[in-house]
Amino acid sequence: MSASCCDQAQDPHRGNESYRRVLWFVLAINAVMFAVEVVAGLAAGSASLQADALDFLGDAGNYAISLFVVGMALRYRAMAAFLKGSTMGLFGLWVLGVTAWHVMHGTLPSAVTMGAVGVAALVANAASFGLLWAYRAGDANMRSAWICTRNDVFGNLAVLLAALGVLGTGTGWPDVTVAAIMAGLALQGAWIVLHQSRFELRISTLQA
Ligand SMILES: [Zn+2]
Repeated sequence: MSASCCDQAQDPHRGNESYRRVLWFVLAINAVMFAVEVVAGLAAGSASLQADALDFLGDAGNYAISLFVVGMALRYRAMAAFLKGSTMGLFGLWVLGVTAWHVMHGTLPSAVTMGAVGVAALVANAASFGLLWAYRAGDANMRSAWICTRNDVFGNLAVLLAALGVLGTGTGWPDVTVAAIMAGLALQGAWIVLHQSRFELRISTLQA
């Protein structure tokens, strides 16, 4: 759920061709699910679906960083992290804005769409986890993969829970509550990434 979730920075398989193919594949899965959740969230009037999209955006960013910038100098890695942090920060603010808008208008989201897309997101995260599983090296790596997927699944389950809540209460409150919490966590993560990357940019300028 945080911006640093599914971080592939400590990557023991960097030069491996089949690993790069897998990274491309999980990058595509996460980018597609980001788009699906944003569009479905707009169509269904669901803020929590859009908040869950934040995680797919962050993970797609991490896989892209693994593919293109991990081997580069600190300056470029810090710039990529800064770009990821600011994209997630802006999108997180937008999700909070959408959430507030739904609260003011008392939007009733479509529980069926939320449920269907929530299940698709679970499948996408399970598929990404399964694809990357073979390339886990060592206990620390295994553990971070597990924690990352667990957080992703919590997000998906929160959306499904919100869908049930919408169905049960006939109001949009479960949706906006889950969205506000998830967007808040994502903003916190984005803030940490921005802070860290600004520090690294300053170091790399001093080194140059
Ligand atoms: Zn994630």
